[in-house]
Amino acid sequence: MDKINLSALNLDEINDLIKPLGASSFRARQIFNWVYLKSAKSIDDMTDLSKSFRDELNKIATITTSTIKRKQTSKDGTIKYLIEYADGECVETVLMRFDNRANLTACVSSQVGCCVNCKFCATGKRGFIRNLTSSEIIEQVLTIQRDTGLKVTNIVFMGQGEPLLNLDNVLKAIDFINTNLVVSQRRITVSTSGIIPKIRELADKNLQITLALSLHAPNSTIRKTLMQIENRYSMDELKKALKYYNDVTGRRITIEYLLIKDINDKTEHAKEVAQYLHDIKCNVNLIPYNPVDETGFKRPNGDDIMKFKCILEHSGKKVTIRLERGADIDAACGQLRGKVV
Ligand code: SAH
Ligand code: SF4
Repeated sequence: MDKINLSALNLDEINDLIKPLGASSFRARQIFNWVYLKSAKSIDDMTDLSKSFRDELNKIATITTSTIKRKQTSKDGTIKYLIEYADGECVETVLMRFDNRANLTACVSSQVGCCVNCKFCATGKRGFIRNLTSSEIIEQVLTIQRDTGLKVTNIVFMGQGEPLLNLDNVLKAIDFINTNLVVSQRRITVSTSGIIPKIRELADKNLQITLALSLHAPNSTIRKTLMQIENRYSMDELKKALKYYNDVTGRRITIEYLLIKDINDKTEHAKEVAQYLHDIKCNVNLIPYNPVDETGFKRPNGDDIMKFKCILEHSGKKVTIRLERGADIDAACGQLRGKVV
């Protein structure tokens, strides 16, 4: 018989699991705290349970079914994990810390591979393999906490995969993380390439999470050359969905804009972006392109980045430039492949 994975159970489920062992709900709470709040690495770590009870529990349960297949640490402190699930498939999860901030941000994956296949992204090159289950998503956060002994404070769904094409499992994971790992919705961001019907569906849930939209182009013609998804869900329709999201949730959207040298980084592009966004409640996050071998794209120069930022700021938007993290270990945005090579 396969052992039960404790890392996927809520308090009631742990209770149900241990009742046949004659254990009280107080024991269930202890186990729950070890798994989610104290990041125990094994059942034997649960030292306030008797040795004989731990032995019984070990026979029917395990603390996790995933393993760290590889771990790389960047010069800037970013850690990239390659996590292997029970069926042998792997995804990458990145832990980012920023000097002088107490935040620990986990960048989690939602799918193995991705079917959207954007030109600039390493994940897309692999094609789509499968969706992650909600517990496989949660396991990524738990893996980081177990390995570092630290508490993750912020979560961004910006690893591999298109979260809105696995929305049910992503929402289940968010709900679980919110209640059991005590990370508030306000500290969770979901990034999408623009799956319009799912943006509307998410709006109707009226959550407190932040929606981030990968725009990456000033107009439909350029967007089509970078993102095939523009053929299915055009910028015109996207705009209506973004406004709907603003109206229903009252929340500001984060617009992600990848700056690629000579493709979408010039002042005329910035003006077009400003015009497109003028009636959308949003902040803009500029992402200087991180090199991915086979694409041929280049990072823009600093001067063009600053001009682009200025134009958007003058249009009244709050603009930030995304700090590059972990590029020396291919952990920066768009560089995740989910493979050992
Ligand atoms: N699939 C979702 C979330 C994962 S990607 C999405 O596309 O939004 C997270 C962000 O990294 C997206 O904005 C994505 O477009 C961006 N990205 C992809 N490749 C990149 C690269 N080579 N350099 C910088 N950012 C990249
Ligand atoms: Fe998929 Fe996002 Fe990469 Fe596009 S950028 S291929 S949607 S992971």
